[in-house]
Amino acid sequence: MEDIYRQIDKLYSEMVNMRRYFHQHPELSFQEVETPERIAAYLEELGIEVRRNVGGRGVVGYIRGNKPGKTVALRADFDALPIQDDKDVPYRSTVPGVMHACGHDAHTAILLAVAKVLSGMTEELSGNVVLIHQFAEELAPGGALPMIEDHCLEGVDAIFGTHVWTPLPIGTVGVRAGAIMASADKFEIEIIGRGGHGASPHETVDPIVVGTTVIQQLQQIISRRINPLHPAVLTVATFHAGQAFNVIPTSASISGTVRTLDKDVQQQIIEQMEKIISTVCEGAGANYRFDYTKGYPPVINHSKETDRLVEISRQVVGSANTLEVEPNMGGEDFAYYLQKVPGAFFFTGAGNPDTGAAYPHHHSMFDIDEKSMLIAAKVLLSTALDYLNA
Ligand code: MN
Repeated sequence: MEDIYRQIDKLYSEMVNMRRYFHQHPELSFQEVETPERIAAYLEELGIEVRRNVGGRGVVGYIRGNKPGKTVALRADFDALPIQDDKDVPYRSTVPGVMHACGHDAHTAILLAVAKVLSGMTEELSGNVVLIHQFAEELAPGGALPMIEDHCLEGVDAIFGTHVWTPLPIGTVGVRAGAIMASADKFEIEIIGRGGHGASPHETVDPIVVGTTVIQQLQQIISRRINPLHPAVLTVATFHAGQAFNVIPTSASISGTVRTLDKDVQQQIIEQMEKIISTVCEGAGANYRFDYTKGYPPVINHSKETDRLVEISRQVVGSANTLEVEPNMGGEDFAYYLQKVPGAFFFTGAGNPDTGAAYPHHHSMFDIDEKSMLIAAKVLLSTALDYLNA
């Protein structure tokens, strides 16, 4: 693999340039036009067969080895976020209010560099590599599902993907078998009472009082109902009611998110929520509307493929820097690929205060240590080759 690593090293400045270009020209989820076109053109220039508009705005590249073998897919997402870029760097976003604040610009540059190396080794390659450049990861329902429905996983035996990750320091790789990221669901509750004069509460059904009771009891689902060894989050993020100081409003609206690593826990939470909302409302004489929308499922890494990845990571960054991380309660639509084919998703450490990479993802000052792209590219490329050669 030493030769492969050297080839990636040689592509470093090109990777940085590509990443900075995408950083300066970010496009929002489901609105990507220039980014996928640029990706497709780059792959075609390398002589790689390309399929455009996969599932909408996705790009899939096919590298076919000369020798028969398995097919491995590598995935990188390419959308940006509705955030104003507040960094003072030459490669700052040129689009007001839009920013690559999650590192998907880097993911794209990494996979293009991997494609370049692979395109030069089809002679000795046993099997095929499918490059999945995915649109719209940041916004549910996301780009993964429509790309899968449009057959991007056809013939694929395994898939790998990474996320550059500033909470982990540069030089490290974080991974774990099993659940590594959570499901990301949304709920909306409307409490429908009966409004009236603030001086005559007995003639009303006060949705604020009912709503606060509902919120209090929802907090007891995680603390009193769910097995403490099963991670789960229930956050009430909004609560709106009323307009005037002396009027009891008719209704109150509540919304929030639920995160779990396990389908059964998720189902248990949904049932408990329904039960609490209905009994509290019934007791108070209020009506309600409860909408629960399941978002991305949890990202569940397969153990064999994770073991392979860990082996490779140890070769690239060393054993001490290959970390078994705790699951992160954020969501990722990479989950859908792993429901279809075995594979693994890992974090590439990208945090480094010395290079300004000191902010969390989705922050207006977000940046990465660009050296993380070298590590991500080496791990992805050698994992794919290792898989094909096994
Ligand atoms: Mn992301």
